[in-house]
Amino acid sequence: MTTPTIAEIIDGSLLAERTADVSDQASRVEEEEALHRRIAHARKMKRAQEPDSDGNYAILDCDDCGLEIGLDRIKVAIQNTTCVACQTLKERMHGYRG
Ligand SMILES: [Zn+2]
Repeated sequence: MTTPTIAEIIDGSLLAERTADVSDQASRVEEEEALHRRIAHARKMKRAQEPDSDGNYAILDCDDCGLEIGLDRIKVAIQNTTCVACQTLKERMHGYRG
């Protein structure tokens, strides 16, 4: 039986770290994508609330069907990313009542 050298131990732990990094990558990419979506959404929301230099409000599209989300709906709940129809459908699918 051979005792690993310090170099081998370090190599081994570096390799383990790298392997962990790679397996971690997928979830990190997902996290980043989620973050990007949140930022993009926040920007959209900001544009929807504040007119641009031409005085125009951005039009928000439903994440699900791509139809325009009314400003009334955005004011009700700023997190809304779907139109009333899609949200109702989702709530029904998840069994929410209200
Ligand atoms: Zn929709």
